[in-house]
Amino acid sequence: MRVAILGGGLAGTACAYMFKRHGLEPVLYEAAESLALAASGNSVGLYNPRFTAGRGPEQEFYAAAFFEALKLFESLPGIDWNPCGALHLVNDDKKAKRFPQTVQSWGWGEHEMRMLSAPEASEVAGVALAFPALYLARSGTVSPRKLCGAYAQGVEVHLNHPVADLSTIKADAIVLTGGMGLVKFPEAAHLPLKPVRGQITYIEASEESAKLRCTIGYGGYVTPLIDGVHCVGSTFQRWLDHSEIIGQDDLDNILKLHEHVHAFRGLHTVEGQRAAVRTTAPDNFPVVGALDAGRRIYVSTAHGSHGILSSLRAAQLLAQLLTGGQAGYAFSGELMGALSPGRFAN
Ligand SMILES: Cc1cc2nc3c(=O)[nH]c(=O)nc-3n(C[C@H](O)[C@H](O)[C@H](O)COP(=O)(O)OP(=O)(O)OC[C@H]3O[C@@H](n4cnc5c(N)ncnc54)[C@H](O)[C@@H]3O)c2cc1C
Repeated sequence: MRVAILGGGLAGTACAYMFKRHGLEPVLYEAAESLALAASGNSVGLYNPRFTAGRGPEQEFYAAAFFEALKLFESLPGIDWNPCGALHLVNDDKKAKRFPQTVQSWGWGEHEMRMLSAPEASEVAGVALAFPALYLARSGTVSPRKLCGAYAQGVEVHLNHPVADLSTIKADAIVLTGGMGLVKFPEAAHLPLKPVRGQITYIEASEESAKLRCTIGYGGYVTPLIDGVHCVGSTFQRWLDHSEIIGQDDLDNILKLHEHVHAFRGLHTVEGQRAAVRTTAPDNFPVVGALDAGRRIYVSTAHGSHGILSSLRAAQLLAQLLTGGQAGYAFSGELMGALSPGRFAN
């Protein structure tokens, strides 16, 4: 079965990879001159589940995505994968309540997820931390840009190929993954997608900051040294939809870092930055499933701030639908409903 995929970011290339793996014939159309030039173009990204206090569709989705990603990243060369661990600081009252509930209700083993005191978190981090933390020992970083390249290996890709009209596509099924570009299609125009701009900042290291061994999240995030710099992210602007660089964003990223990780105080030198636009849905959950089952038009979008994990699991869901269940992935009916584009019908 030939499946046309529109969009060459994480959502589209993950689909291409999964469809090929399950015996479908993907062909990918990307408007730009190269893959991963939009939201998926960062050289560094963190793969973390979106934490919920209880169990439910979100937990089912992100937990499965996390373990699927670990299995897959191990087998993909050249993606700068570093499972260095992730500390999520308990820096407000909500997290103080929610994170222990997450640990209890998700039921992962101690070696996967546990709460640490501030001294224990400092020991893990390699730098002093003033907050307790939720620790995921196998979380870490990967290059979204390189991941797109790895996913698309061996796939028929048409670059500089913006698709304006789905009736021009010759395929047995079509998957729309074009981020905010999707709303131009009448088939997807009803989806309440919203852009959220973000900017990451690369900063110089000091002898002290270079000791950082894992990622630290605190509302923003910082990574251990990668290619001689730390990556500090990320702004989250619901009111902007452009990818121009904003100087103030670098200052905001750095100030937030200084506030939460004292080992970085005094580090101000910006070595680079990148801005892009995320696609989100009002309920902050991806939109994945059939847009028009009769015409075999599907969608994978609204991956928000967790696209590394969610695009992969979304691709598995679509592989499952397109192969009539032969792909062999399990999804509860409740989760499929929560992801479905049909949830916005009323
Ligand atoms: C600053 C920033 C930091 C982030 N950090 C992280 C992180 O640490 N961890 C994480 O998991 N996620 C992170 N994200 C989110 C993640 O990058 C996104 O969720 C993900 O990249 C979305 O992928 P996508 O394929 O849906 O969209 P995109 O990457 O935007 O891809 C859409 C593609 O579709 C193409 N297209 C659009 N219309 C058409 C058309 N008509 N025909 C053909 N092609 C078309 C576009 O050119 C584009 O290439 C971050 C995002 C930003 C902006």
